[in-house]
Amino acid sequence: MISIDGISKEFDLGSETVTALDTLSHDVAAGRFVAVVGPSGCGKSTLLRLIAGLEKPSSGSIEIEAGRVRRPVGFVFQDAVLLPWKTVEANVRFPLDTGGTKRALADAKVRELLELTGLSGFAKALPRQLSGGMKQRAAIARALAEDPPILLMDEPFSAVDLLTRETLNDELLRIWERTGKTVVLVTHSVEEAAYLADEVMVLSAHPGRLVKTYEVALARPRNEATKLDRDYHELVAALRRDLRGGRIRP
Ligand code: ADP
Ligand code: MG
Repeated sequence: MISIDGISKEFDLGSETVTALDTLSHDVAAGRFVAVVGPSGCGKSTLLRLIAGLEKPSSGSIEIEAGRVRRPVGFVFQDAVLLPWKTVEANVRFPLDTGGTKRALADAKVRELLELTGLSGFAKALPRQLSGGMKQRAAIARALAEDPPILLMDEPFSAVDLLTRETLNDELLRIWERTGKTVVLVTHSVEEAAYLADEVMVLSAHPGRLVKTYEVALARPRNEATKLDRDYHELVAALRRDLRGGRIRP
């Protein structure tokens, strides 16, 4: 579904050139949940922006095979970028209205998304009346509004407390299982990566290279028992070792 073929990304800063990503290749099959981990500044956000088509690679190519859909990807950022003067419902509806979806269809879609993300009781609330976790749920609902087959998430739960984060992880898994989306999630947390993903991509520090990919064989559905699983702990430890190595890599 996503074919990343030898992409590099350089940023020209006038006097010098920063290589954010260095000849990275990877294929993501439809319906998979992929986590990306790596030290700060290694090019994780750049990778997502390239997949989203928000930027072009300096070399190499990315192909998205999504059939004839109007919007192949939805994007969720670290800080939910909701329109502060619009209600939750209106925020989720916004891409549908600007995209010209028929009114009755949009009504039904918004209802379905608020239900999916557990926000049905907060349709008329304004963003400032929501907790951080609820804002992120609204941002997920909005990203799913046009039913993109791919959901890209850039450290979506970094700004919420740990307990909320664990709840949101479980909700994200439920949403993923119900919708069958292909998910690429960037996270700082190796625990989160191991708990959620089918595969974990590990990027090295500056310039970002794909160091290795782990297949995560942990049973689904994942739940509290997963966190007691020996394989889960071994994967978390291995990822942590990789990241420590990655930080001192040139
Ligand atoms: P991460 O998300 O892993 O922390 P980023 O993808 O944000 O890393 O950034 C990777 C590198 O590319 C960093 O060195 C960053 O400074 C640089 N970079 C990212 N975006 C730009 C840009 N628009 N202009 C110049 N440099 C950039
Ligand atoms: Mg980033």
